Amino acid sequence: MKLLCLDCDSTLSEIEGVDELAAVRGNEVKQQIVDLTNQAMSGEIAIEEIFGKRLNLIKPTKQLCEEVGQLYIDKASEGVKESLDNLRAKGWMPIIISGGFIDPIKPFAKFLEIDEIYAVPLHFDKEGEYESFTASPTTRNGGKPEILQELIEKYNPEVTVMVGDGVSDLECQGVASLFIGYGEYEAREKVKASAEKFAYNFSEIEKILEVYS
Ligand SMILES: [Mg+2]
Repeated sequence: MKLLCLDCDSTLSEIEGVDELAAVRGNEVKQQIVDLTNQAMSGEIAIEEIFGKRLNLIKPTKQLCEEVGQLYIDKASEGVKESLDNLRAKGWMPIIISGGFIDPIKPFAKFLEIDEIYAVPLHFDKEGEYESFTASPTTRNGGKPEILQELIEKYNPEVTVMVGDGVSDLECQGVASLFIGYGEYEAREKVKASAEKFAYNFSEIEKILEVYS
């Protein structure tokens, strides 16, 4: 079996879930969130520094998370569903490793027929108002390679590939057999310069992975 670990935001889908959640709080809050996310994904500041800060600004409700779940589906990367089907037929098992939130990602994972998701759980009160989040590995730098390592021990795969647009994904290079940077939406300088491979769409990823068939 071959593991295909995938970032979610700006990779499997065009959107950054957290930015979309922020949008309902008005332009000023959204801009603050977009800036913080960009700084973290380009490696200027640590993820753990912005994580709680962003959530306290947004306070996402359960209902809002469901709406963003639909948006992930509507904005899915072109041909991604078909590419994942092709890759599954060749023995790849897709898994999502995301610094985003489990609630909105779940319906998207279901749409893509991905069973295993590593992301951040949010907690809501009885009215569906935001209460807190669980400080999971992907709320800090070094969290994605940590999860990857656990998956390698769990499945003992022939090959492990990580795909993503951010510096937090790039951190998996060296732990994964191969890291593929993803630049369809954000070709981040640091990621593009260091990534072993770089792709702009999912057919390119399929081609890159042909070496393992
Ligand atoms: Mg991303």
